[in-house]
Amino acid sequence: MDLGLRDRVALVAAASRGLGRAIAEELAAEGASLVICARGAPALEEARASIARTGASVHAIVADVSEYTGVHHAVDAAIERFGRVDVLVTNAGGPPSGPFDAHDWATWQRAVDLTLRSAVELTRLVLPGMKERRWGRIINVTSIAAKQPVDGLMLSNSIRAAVTGMARTLASEIATFGITVNNILPGYTRTERVTELNAATAAREGVPVEQVDQRIAAQIPMRRLGEPREFAALAAFLASERATYITGQSIAVDGGWIRALM
Ligand code: NAD
Repeated sequence: MDLGLRDRVALVAAASRGLGRAIAEELAAEGASLVICARGAPALEEARASIARTGASVHAIVADVSEYTGVHHAVDAAIERFGRVDVLVTNAGGPPSGPFDAHDWATWQRAVDLTLRSAVELTRLVLPGMKERRWGRIINVTSIAAKQPVDGLMLSNSIRAAVTGMARTLASEIATFGITVNNILPGYTRTERVTELNAATAAREGVPVEQVDQRIAAQIPMRRLGEPREFAALAAFLASERATYITGQSIAVDGGWIRALM
């Protein structure tokens, strides 16, 4: 299937590793030009160089998307380099885990800036150009927590719901411009972050890391964690010319973890 992504420009936020990087790699493989951002220069440069070796046109910009200046910086860099953004993927690190009692308002505010504000402000900056060209794809990386709250993830459970509400409302507001807005919900996916979290849990409990992996896998009907590429494949499709009539949706890539009917 030709996804029609050649000559499209994609800005993928938080893409030095994990899900963001997998999406950038997949879009690059489909022929899109890429702008990627993350906070740390060395990891970002490694990701850029690796994607560039495939022959893709990729530009990297150090930016913290939880801050308005960072968001501005990333979008400005994309427009300076390629003249426009056709596909926006909003993504960032996850907010801290913990129950209600663990977080004061300052922590909530930082989580709002990281998870909600980054998606809102990135969207705000790319939207005028997409409207003008009457074509655009906005894809938010959220979480299975947006459909089925995960115990102990107070901040993620709460703030992903806000992103979902924003995206669904925006999808209707801009549908006639040929711009789609969708959310992709990762389930347990074997990224660097999950590998680190599982290793930390194993060390804390004094058990082998395989035991922690198996405990997670037991909750998933497919009995395994997902791979970043399996997640990125959906992002590429939603970004594509083929996905013209899909908007306002929240689609999980979770091996069946969410038990809800819809
Ligand atoms: P990861 O830690 O492996 O990668 C996160 C990426 O974001 C890195 O490139 C990091 O440098 C970058 N980043 C973090 N904060 C940033 C900021 N403020 N500005 C710019 N870049 C920033 O994480 P991941 O597993 O790829 O997860 C990505 C998102 O998906 C997170 O929000 C996470 O909570 C969510 N998620 C992941 C899973 C999973 O199983 N992997 C499940 C549900 C939700």
